Amino acid sequence: MTDKKSRILAQSHLLIDSLVRRHRYALGFAAVSTLSVVTAFAVAPQGSSTAITLQTVVEQLPVRDAKIIAAEQHSFLREERVQRGDTLASLATRLGIDDREALDFLRTNTVAQTIARQLRPGKPVTARTGERGELIAFFFPVSGKDALIVIKREQGKLSASEQAQVLEPRIEMRSGEIRYSLFGATDDAEIPDGIATQLAEIFSGDIDFHRDLRKGDRFSIVYEMLHHRGQAIRSGRILAAEFTNDKKTYQAYWHATEGGKGGYYTADGKSLRKAFLRSPLEFSRVTSGFTSNRFHPVLQTWRAHKGVDYGAPIGTRVRAVADGIVEFAGKQGGYGNLIVLKHQSAYSTAYGHLNGYAPGIRKGTRIVQGDTIGYVGQTGLASGPHLHYEFRIREQQVNPLSVTLPTTLPLEPSQLPRFKSAIQPLAEQVKLAKEFSGQGSFH
Ligand SMILES: [Zn+2]
Repeated sequence: MTDKKSRILAQSHLLIDSLVRRHRYALGFAAVSTLSVVTAFAVAPQGSSTAITLQTVVEQLPVRDAKIIAAEQHSFLREERVQRGDTLASLATRLGIDDREALDFLRTNTVAQTIARQLRPGKPVTARTGERGELIAFFFPVSGKDALIVIKREQGKLSASEQAQVLEPRIEMRSGEIRYSLFGATDDAEIPDGIATQLAEIFSGDIDFHRDLRKGDRFSIVYEMLHHRGQAIRSGRILAAEFTNDKKTYQAYWHATEGGKGGYYTADGKSLRKAFLRSPLEFSRVTSGFTSNRFHPVLQTWRAHKGVDYGAPIGTRVRAVADGIVEFAGKQGGYGNLIVLKHQSAYSTAYGHLNGYAPGIRKGTRIVQGDTIGYVGQTGLASGPHLHYEFRIREQQVNPLSVTLPTTLPLEPSQLPRFKSAIQPLAEQVKLAKEFSGQGSFH
């Protein structure tokens, strides 16, 4: 074992199954004996909302080509909510399931048939799929009781059963490097979409994930995952994260403020919630351009027309970048359907070519940062569906990339000592996740 590994084990810090898996990849390269054994102790950090779990994981490591092991084990965890009008087929598509046999099974198996009858909007559904979209596991909450329908593929054979739901929060640590897209990197690191979009949200005051991502950007995340009988079925909250974008590193720690709701802060207690978001489009698998294996850059940035264009499918939600009041909502020349929001001091923002307005959006409506105000379209002078976004100071368009924006308040000095001691174990875990990712060459 390398020094680094023994040190990590000696620290007996939290190590969870994912890391053990990655550990195995790393050892796959390094091991010379025919069999190695990894022992890891998992301990929940202090101050987290997670029940303390202590577990010993012993894995036998036959020496094989690590790449083969990785390929065999690669799987994706997708979480979705049932939407109005969903069918088994449409839900399966959103979950990334491309598996005729599994769909037939869902339609014909007596236990699985409950699913089609209980597609109630809002239900959280999880699927684990393999590289080619084959179903590995499917979790569906049964209406009216604390139970799940669990579909599993074992030795190639699908089975379905109803099981009492036993949810247990566990901490996971992952790292990744962006080669093509954020979702490509999070897929590689087997991070669920729910966590990937949380990551983008947390840093959305500093990074525009539509435009700013660079090949080589890195991230490490510590987050909670809810497990049912050892299987991850729902993502919880990100507890700590680090993101290096274009060589600049940002950190975030979750902190429940006294009497407040909590939020994300830098290591020295500055809030990550900014007065202005970097992007008027939330970041999702859809707006990032579906495909996980190539960059899908938005259209040009600062052009002669003094706005930023975001290419996105028609109907994509457009959100207010800051608190404010609707100053204008209606048709305006080449802008087509336009919304102008007035914010604090002399700032305003404009959103053009909209397909339509969110309910209740009219002159004078009060808006909170992040509210959906309208939907992407191609009204007015637009050659394709996109959002035209302008940032204005005293009615003058300015490049949103180059303005210095007002910041929010840091934590009260009296809260700082408690905050600093609370984030210490999280900082250690972020570091661990980073060290692990540096060893294998997979992520
Ligand atoms: Zn434009």
